[in-house]
Amino acid sequence: MAETVIQHSSVGASSCERWWNCPGSNALIAKLPPAEPSKYAAEGTAAHALCEHVLKNKVHYNAKWDATVCIGETYEVDDFQFKVTEEMATAANLYVNTILEDAKRIGCNLRRTVQLEGQNPEAWKAWDKETQEKINTLWVNIEKGFELKDVDIEARGTNDASIYVPGETLIVYDFKYGAGIPVEAQENKQMMYYAIGAAGKNLMSFKSIELVIVQPRAEHPLGPVRRWVTTPERIAQFKRDLKEHIEETRKPNAATRTGKWCRFCNAKLICPAMRDKTYELAKIDFAQKPENNAIKHPSMLTPEEIKLFLDNADLLEQYIKDVKAYALRILDNGGTIEGYKLVRSNKTHRKWNDSEENITSMLSLELGIDPEDLYDKSLKTPAQVEKALGNTKGVKDIVASYCYRPEGELKLARDEDLREKQTPTAIADFQAISELGL
Ligand code: SF4
Repeated sequence: MAETVIQHSSVGASSCERWWNCPGSNALIAKLPPAEPSKYAAEGTAAHALCEHVLKNKVHYNAKWDATVCIGETYEVDDFQFKVTEEMATAANLYVNTILEDAKRIGCNLRRTVQLEGQNPEAWKAWDKETQEKINTLWVNIEKGFELKDVDIEARGTNDASIYVPGETLIVYDFKYGAGIPVEAQENKQMMYYAIGAAGKNLMSFKSIELVIVQPRAEHPLGPVRRWVTTPERIAQFKRDLKEHIEETRKPNAATRTGKWCRFCNAKLICPAMRDKTYELAKIDFAQKPENNAIKHPSMLTPEEIKLFLDNADLLEQYIKDVKAYALRILDNGGTIEGYKLVRSNKTHRKWNDSEENITSMLSLELGIDPEDLYDKSLKTPAQVEKALGNTKGVKDIVASYCYRPEGELKLARDEDLREKQTPTAIADFQAISELGL
């Protein structure tokens, strides 16, 4: 849990990207009942709790264990229960190790300044001598809530972690467990907001400020840890802009503006800007059926129309998904929508109805087969083999000599995507044939 309990704010750090770009969204959201808890968000909270638990133990008690010892433990968030899986533990370890390695790199002393009375004596023993001598130099904050009263009475947030060396470097971390949208560190508003909170009144005393996103499950060409090194001056400028943007959200008739930030906005279904965008794109009036049910086939679109769709595809897809989820909720709560009903998916797989042990012994008894034949054995993946053999010398090279990375599927991406531009398949095939002299 966070050290300081920070109440929800409509202009808080976590939603900054949305209300900064769409100041009118706050007024729309205020008209809605509180959003229903989402399983994805709750899973993220559980993963954050694991990260916090491991990091605090590493920092405060010099713990020798890592998140893998928590595999199988349960976290309960918003009535959802999540077991710590290997994937979650690996993600938490990446986050914790990134911070610990950075601390070593910048010469940050990670130990804490807490009252030691009442501490678990076992924990005491785990502290090394050097640690105990330096207990008054704490250069780390974990899940620390902050308020920016000089910016706005409601400006606040809770930062996952930050480490620093006074007068030198401040590093601010944000852990993201989401797999869907890779988040950039550069010019990230949420992170700059956290940096103001983490630096406090010492902002201008640092020489550099580093913002780090750790997002282990989303594919990104720069890998799961992305960094942006900036200056106190840039953060100070952001702080001034922050004040103005917060004021914008409070203006009557504050503007609404669609963009990628709409994805996490609860007001999508009542938002006029979203409705206009949808009409503009679909070129149909939802109040009437399109003539002959005909929507243009993609081959009939002009390049400009294709671009217009692509520029807004994510927005539209998300909107349609939200409308469908909302319709399902209406029906599930006993409401009606003409022409629609609730059904059960028949895409389910049969499951054994007893414990694994009982099923194994009963099947081998009744079917007369060797219990071994009831289990699958398959070759481990290269990553699993490396993991099983740990740091054994030469493992990585030997494994590398027996594996290859298949080419990924072709995907559509925006020009600013950092991945290399690919040659169209038709041209690549033609070049290959030419090279062969066929
Ligand atoms: S859906 Fe998009 S445009 Fe509409 S209020 Fe939300 S963020 Fe603004």
